[in-house]
Amino acid sequence: MSTLVMKFGGSSVGTKTALMQVLSIVLHEREQWDNLILVVSALDGVTDALIESAHLAHLGNQRGYRRIVANLRTRHMALIEELPLGATERAALQADIDRLLFDMLGTYETMSDLPAETPIPDLIDATIGVGEKLAARIVAALLRQKEIRSVALDATDLIITDDVYGNATPNIELTCDRIRSNLLPSLERQIVPVATGFIGATRSGKPTTLGRGGSDYTASIFAICADASEVWIWTSVDGMMSADPREIQSAQVIPRMSYEEVAELAYFGARVLHARMIGPLRERHIPLRIKNVFKPQQPGTLIHDATAEPGQHLKAVTAISGIGLTAARNGPLSPIRQLVDRTLQATMHTHADVMISSQSATHSFVCFLIPTSAGPDAIHAARLMLEDDLSAQPDTAAWQVKPVSIITVIRDKIDETPALTAGVLHCLTGIRILGLAQGPSRCSLSIVLEPEQMESALLAIHDLIVHQ
Ligand code: ASP
Ligand code: MG
Repeated sequence: MSTLVMKFGGSSVGTKTALMQVLSIVLHEREQWDNLILVVSALDGVTDALIESAHLAHLGNQRGYRRIVANLRTRHMALIEELPLGATERAALQADIDRLLFDMLGTYETMSDLPAETPIPDLIDATIGVGEKLAARIVAALLRQKEIRSVALDATDLIITDDVYGNATPNIELTCDRIRSNLLPSLERQIVPVATGFIGATRSGKPTTLGRGGSDYTASIFAICADASEVWIWTSVDGMMSADPREIQSAQVIPRMSYEEVAELAYFGARVLHARMIGPLRERHIPLRIKNVFKPQQPGTLIHDATAEPGQHLKAVTAISGIGLTAARNGPLSPIRQLVDRTLQATMHTHADVMISSQSATHSFVCFLIPTSAGPDAIHAARLMLEDDLSAQPDTAAWQVKPVSIITVIRDKIDETPALTAGVLHCLTGIRILGLAQGPSRCSLSIVLEPEQMESALLAIHDLIVHQ
């Protein structure tokens, strides 16, 4: 039995043009595989809007959240008007949308009655998954119109998670039991299920979410529980790229990568995939493809087990922001790490990831990653607060804080190819290197630089990748 799990991201379901592509992709793949399982994200921008309206509700700003909900309603209704749906299907879909939004407004009312200081991550999770529920219903209705037996499924009934609202982790055993008993029988009846990405529920049925971009993760969980042959992520880019195309125009699609390389690429800044989706697929050796929904005939990127590839190719280069602390002193680094961790928790609600720490007889250096989702304001705030915190500690007064850039080159077993490492360092001639580390996964080499030198370093390394 061959089963393909396809996940369609927000830009693949956000417009009529994209949805018609989805339809033709499903019609085509239905002929190639025994079973299809679809996972969808909310229409692009919808989750951001839902997060904003949930916060307004918590602040008791009724006008604010009502305005956002009205806009969301208009957008979904306008999309449905454009789609080739029969009158009964369209009316049922419109009623469904109104019911979901109405229930959400009910939760917003509860939220606005609570004092603004009461933390309500559970109520926020109960509302921000509505975008996925709307999208799944639209896609399923569109497929039915083409005589494909299809149903929309809310993953709150299938994916059982812990209660870490906003970033929940599925219990794979319980989830697989649910998927096997509730979803697989419908595949036998030739039904194409369209499941909501991003959301799950605790054992007691309280809605949770899997973290931003979590629909990818949903797709890999469905894949392992349904013994899928492959997972395809449909997006609006051509695949995994050798560099961020917004920074480097000559960025190219990488045809093949290993799970380790992709996990490392996601960790060091590429925004294409949810980092936690790779682990389950790697364990089960399920191949993953990234494809452009607007160019389905192109192969995209295939992600699979590492194979001995001919040649010694570097795959990609990324750049990410960080904070570097330098001191003209020596001493234990652990109190500094704890202090930075506390500061980043307070300013960015995230733990500090130590990228590099190094010491000599007279100097210490510690470099922390700043998550790609944090804007320049957050970096600035973190830096100011760090400076304050450090100067308040008598024995840390000698520390200096400054923003840094971390450039990472990706390739499997980079430790076995010293010539490649030498080539990278050679092309950085003239650039001041503040720190250097080879990742323990053996497929990344990271270089810490002054931010002003990031662009020229990125260009030089990407040139090397293109011309190797
Ligand atoms: N809609 C959710 C988000 O924007 C999940 C996803 O798109 O994967 O984060
Ligand atoms: Mg995504």
